[in-house]
Amino acid sequence: MTNRQIVLDQIPQGKLTPEHFRLTEGETPSPGEGEVLLRSRYISLDAANRAWMQGATYRSALQGGQVMAGGGLSEVVESNVGHLKPGDLVFADAGWQEYATLPGKHLSKLPDLKPETHLLSVYGIAGLTAYFGLLECGQPKAGDTVVVSAAAGSVGSIVGQIAKIKGCRVVGIAGGEEKGRWLTEELGFDAAVDYKSAEFKRRLREAVPDGIDVYFDNTGGDVFEACLFAMKNHGRIACCGALSQYDGAPPPHGPRGIPGLIVTKRLTLRGFVVMDFAAQNDKALSDLQAWVASGQLKVQEDVIDGLENLPQALIGLLAGENRGKRMVRV
Ligand code: NAP
Repeated sequence: MTNRQIVLDQIPQGKLTPEHFRLTEGETPSPGEGEVLLRSRYISLDAANRAWMQGATYRSALQGGQVMAGGGLSEVVESNVGHLKPGDLVFADAGWQEYATLPGKHLSKLPDLKPETHLLSVYGIAGLTAYFGLLECGQPKAGDTVVVSAAAGSVGSIVGQIAKIKGCRVVGIAGGEEKGRWLTEELGFDAAVDYKSAEFKRRLREAVPDGIDVYFDNTGGDVFEACLFAMKNHGRIACCGALSQYDGAPPPHGPRGIPGLIVTKRLTLRGFVVMDFAAQNDKALSDLQAWVASGQLKVQEDVIDGLENLPQALIGLLAGENRGKRMVRV
């Protein structure tokens, strides 16, 4: 069996382009002792894929010439461990390729849920990140004003809906009027603000006339700065990611207002990585499942076909093409 793979040929210095990747065919590996052979079904596209090319994060930096890293939903084809058998589905860091062998001890069988793509979206990293980042780091109370950036993306669209479920007033920041309409008309956000508009700061202030209690920051940069200035005293900022800094040259200056506004407004900023809360995953998944079943939480997925389309799918995600969770069906 051949194994089609996408190799990250070179580490980008500026914007990511298709030329940074190469499609190759290798041999399908055989699983050794304690290993499983996996076949990729869906590969998750994450803004973090680009951040990993910049340097070490919560994982070591990617190197040119290696199979592009990435997580996804894989099916066990052969197993040399007792707790997994062929046909089981697992979430695995299997990379952008059709087949991979991995040690079985870090893998666990996923529940039998339909549609299985929800295992990558609302019941995967995106849903858990939204849940823990908002509820643990943001600590929203009913009546609070919650603002989320990259609001039409996979994490952001779930953050806003959970905040609504908790009785908050929710404002989403996203690129373009059309995404804004989708947030308010389909997902129930109270307002949306286009950060690409020349009027962004004024419109944000109009959308949060009394200020922001909780800001869920997916972007950093200018959007972070605008929200910092609009925070109420004792507000909380959940620092989830820095989308504005992943693709291209670093910005010439950091956000203004640090640390002055943090001091005078008595703000709490908390960075987090979703794995920090793994011990509470069962409770989070049960809440998420109940909200999806009751129709309070809508799941938006953006599925693209074909392993060969992974590079363009990531480039498009960084350019804002996606609504909700983007993934590639292999
Ligand atoms: P996503 O939100 O589904 O997609 C990225 C979106 O970001 C795009 O659709 C685009 O929408 C927006 N965007 C792109 N460039 C931007 C910019 N310069 N300023 C503002 N918005 C921009 O992606 P995701 O993978 O779910 O990631 C969302 C965030 O969560 C990222 O920061 C990621 O690193 C973070 N994350 C953190 C954890 C954790 O454990 N801390 C886990 C998972 C993800 P527009 O059309 O609105 O521009």
